[in-house]
Amino acid sequence: MLEKLLKEYSKRGKFNDYLGEIDVEKKDIEKIIPQNLLRKDFEFIEVSEIEVIRHFIRLSNLNYHLDKGIYPLGSCTMKHNPKVNEEVSSYEGFIFLHPLQKEEDIQGALKLMYELIYFLKEISGMDYVSLQPPAGASGELTSMLVIKKYFMDKKEDRKIVLIPDSAHGTNPASVTMAGFICQTIKSNSEGMVDLDDLKKNLSEQVACLMITNPNTLGIFEKNIKIIIEELHRYGALVYLDGANLNAYCGIHRPGDVGVDIMHFNLHKTFSTPHGGGGPGAGPVGAKSFLVPYLPNPKIEKEGERYYFKYDKESIGKTASFYGNFNVFIKAYTYLRMNGIKGLKKMSQIAVLNANYLRKRLEEIGFSCEYKTSTLHEFVLTLKDFKRKDIRALDIAKRLLDYDCHAPTIYFPLIVPEAFMIEPTETEPKEELDRFISVMKKIKEEIEENPNLVKEAPHNTPVKRLDEGKAGRELVVKWD
Ligand SMILES: *Cc1c(COP(=O)(O)O)cnc(C)c1O
Repeated sequence: MLEKLLKEYSKRGKFNDYLGEIDVEKKDIEKIIPQNLLRKDFEFIEVSEIEVIRHFIRLSNLNYHLDKGIYPLGSCTMKHNPKVNEEVSSYEGFIFLHPLQKEEDIQGALKLMYELIYFLKEISGMDYVSLQPPAGASGELTSMLVIKKYFMDKKEDRKIVLIPDSAHGTNPASVTMAGFICQTIKSNSEGMVDLDDLKKNLSEQVACLMITNPNTLGIFEKNIKIIIEELHRYGALVYLDGANLNAYCGIHRPGDVGVDIMHFNLHKTFSTPHGGGGPGAGPVGAKSFLVPYLPNPKIEKEGERYYFKYDKESIGKTASFYGNFNVFIKAYTYLRMNGIKGLKKMSQIAVLNANYLRKRLEEIGFSCEYKTSTLHEFVLTLKDFKRKDIRALDIAKRLLDYDCHAPTIYFPLIVPEAFMIEPTETEPKEELDRFISVMKKIKEEIEENPNLVKEAPHNTPVKRLDEGKAGRELVVKWD
């Protein structure tokens, strides 16, 4: 059953009594607002406060979300974000800031950004971090533009960017948008970069390698140092997709193994709610020789005073003003609350939870395409169930019936019927055990009554959608 629209509860005169009548005359409005901007036939909906509240609570109950249960969406790090972050980020001193205020008036905000940059530098081993890019993909594009400008200044014509075949889809998209050409590097039987294939593709035309570590299979590239040495031997750079930082905070620093530039996902690792399309933040960290190219302005400190610094080599801006400040506050609060010891524990538990889940699921007959050990996430292959005409999508849908959000499916592309699971550190063992028992139940259903799974979901407000039709006939407007 579909919910009514708020508009459908509307009835003349139902408006909240305590707000009283509108005391602006129609002719006065027409004086202020230009004629061409006035809507002719607009009707305010009139509903009471309690109806509005109930409407949205009902909608939120129809939806599945993190506050209801496990959300093991691989690669997305859907962890619980402490509510205190929201509290702090809505302090008046923050929400009434305006981005055009003078430096002298916003010293506190600059201090927060300066210190956040410091923490990210310490965590990653980079020399400076630009907070500006508003998403991971934006951080990737920013980095590609930085690399492009760097080689332009060196008068080196390098057009190729190498990307392993396990990469996230945003990687090739960013590379193409920046005007480079993608070259795919194969994975070996362990699910890591194939060194021979890498060497075959290396040349003086290569600008950089875009690598994710641990990669999207959850596997740490054990040859990361060798890989980086190889690229540097050709004068090429190494870009790290840092979306998987949740796996190694306080344990490993990309800067220490030679990564030249990387992005962070504050909306994954550092506790801003992820999903729903933002706002997010994808800061970019770089080694000193690339720092001048990062977006302007940078934030510096002289004595006790914080100020904006503009570099003439900079690629310019990649977002309006300074990026999503609200997200910085949440990351800052989270980092200050945890400290480096807390962050290390965060990653250790993220890895422990994922490995507990992997082991228990393997015991009941699920398996990974690659047997290599994994960190904070792992990717099952559900190809065996094809004999029963069951695909990863069917199992994902059936999970919804049991109040579990589905894992990421069909990604990475190198795993057939991929089922990518990332429980995160904030799931209690009881919830992991519930997920395991649900997976066991679904496995039994596939043997006994595969149609039950094939036709799932059965208990959700909206049943299985015709995704092909939705893609072809995209109607997102209610008339
Ligand atoms: C999430 C993710 C990205 C992109 O980040 P967005 O903030 O969603 O743009 C890139 N790479 C990997 C591996 C990711 O998991």
